Amino acid sequence: MINLAPWYLKIARPLPWRKTHDPYRIWVSEVMLQQTQVDTVIGYYEKFLKTFPNLESLAKSKEQDVLTLWSGLGYYRRARNLRMGAKFIVKEWGKFPTTRDDLLRVPGIGPYTAGAVLSIAFDLPEPLVDGNVNRLFARFFGVKEPIHTSKIQKFFWEMAEQWVKESQSPRIHNQALMELGSLVCQKSNPACHRCPLSISCVAFKKGLQQSIPLAKPRKRTEEIHWIGLVIKKLKHDGTYQYFIKQNQKNEWWEGLWDFPVIDKPLKLNWNQSQELIHQKHGQTKAIRPINRLQHFVTHHKISITSFIVEFPSKKPFKEQGQWLPLDEISKLPLSALAKKIFREISMC
Ligand code: SF4
Repeated sequence: MINLAPWYLKIARPLPWRKTHDPYRIWVSEVMLQQTQVDTVIGYYEKFLKTFPNLESLAKSKEQDVLTLWSGLGYYRRARNLRMGAKFIVKEWGKFPTTRDDLLRVPGIGPYTAGAVLSIAFDLPEPLVDGNVNRLFARFFGVKEPIHTSKIQKFFWEMAEQWVKESQSPRIHNQALMELGSLVCQKSNPACHRCPLSISCVAFKKGLQQSIPLAKPRKRTEEIHWIGLVIKKLKHDGTYQYFIKQNQKNEWWEGLWDFPVIDKPLKLNWNQSQELIHQKHGQTKAIRPINRLQHFVTHHKISITSFIVEFPSKKPFKEQGQWLPLDEISKLPLSALAKKIFREISMC
């Protein structure tokens, strides 16, 4: 029988979500921790719970407010799903459900999150397998084939279930498993000398830690070139307003706000870029380059050259969006790219 409790109780990090058994708080932490480092999550987690301390407050929230709090954490679908999920739970049951079948009906909750919430909040013997556990199991069982096939995933989930059912406390066991995957059985250079599983670990015994699990074939990075437009207009009181638009469904960063962009061919010089801006928006009062930066989204590399474009005050502007002063724009949930551009214009 695998008993990780003594090891975990000795080394567990005192993370804020480990001080509670409230399923709502554990759910929020689990969603934030997907794709995001623990150190980054802590501040967001605390701020989020100050504004939305329970299911009811999140269920009643406005999407814009949730996205604003999430701004900078990335993968914004998680935030939208969290809010939708809270609404669904409140409407359907009024409180957090305690079965895997019910939890899997909630928007955004998959088998991993269901297992985490049920075991950590309610101490139920429900399994979980995340990216770290996948790596740990692959090494522990010496799996030399690709691990994301349905055959291997079935095997890992069965093992996770067997281990958690045999444990004295599912709550401790599952957290220990995740902690072990995250702190000890790391991607490169696993610290096997500190691992409580080393005595039975196939990869350790055969010296295969570096070759297991098999690396996933890498997707080729696609390069995209954009012109970013910080379009401003002089108001009659002598102040400027800037044009900003909200990303729509099926666009990147749905629901977040961005400065408009134009797709551009690869090598476009300054005059040609200016020409492209004129083609798109007609005559402008002035165009001034501000910066060139790179931004990465999944397997895309965006190279963006931004310009401040002064637009004649009375000329109609065709695109859908809002004209706002910079201090109002700073309060919107901006995409990470818009934040980078915003930082530049605040310094101009
Ligand atoms: S012994 Fe090493 S390779 Fe095996 S599970 Fe522990 S840390 Fe991972």
